[in-house]
Amino acid sequence: MMNDAGLQSFIIYHLSFIIKDMILPIVAYGDPILRKRAKDIENGSLDVKKLSENMFETMYAASGVGLAAPQIGQSIRMFVVDGEPLNEDEAEEDIDQTLIGFKKVFINPEIIEEAGDDWGFEEGCLSIPGIRGEVFRPEIIVIRYFDTDWHEHEEEYEGMAARIIQHEYDHLDGKLFTDYLPSIRRTLIKKKLADISKGKTDAEYKMKFPK
Ligand SMILES: [Zn+2]
Repeated sequence: MMNDAGLQSFIIYHLSFIIKDMILPIVAYGDPILRKRAKDIENGSLDVKKLSENMFETMYAASGVGLAAPQIGQSIRMFVVDGEPLNEDEAEEDIDQTLIGFKKVFINPEIIEEAGDDWGFEEGCLSIPGIRGEVFRPEIIVIRYFDTDWHEHEEEYEGMAARIIQHEYDHLDGKLFTDYLPSIRRTLIKKKLADISKGKTDAEYKMKFPK
């Protein structure tokens, strides 16, 4: 027979399986964590599978295609991506081949090579809602990383897949896409950025604003 305390922990244990994934608030522009260099994750130090599930859930709830751990308030080197939604509703000839099956978790990643011509694209960021800007990045990257089973991989990506990785990877080094914008454009968005950090934004997802 179970006593009350036993019954309680039994219920909590099973509830944790029912409430499987958790949507976390996304850290807004202005929080110092977005400017810090994140730390490597030590194998076994945390449940990377659970964390990545929560990150995917959080990212999907905000209609994003990438999310880095500092954006949920954890200064660790890990990010998740899923570029497939960008192909939804696209005509057959407009399907981006680099995004097919591009759902992944990158742990302790290291971009070891960048190559090809720089190309521009209007980027946005879940931590900076309502602002977009053209960023130029090299079209090809080679990245080394661990997956959630701690298997090491070295892979090459190009095009949009490479860009999503480069954007998320920057978050681990405290860099934001707005840093790449020309100074005149940065001056123009200054007020908007200040507003975001004060909580003045109409993002349709849960956010955490700096105090
Ligand atoms: Zn971002």
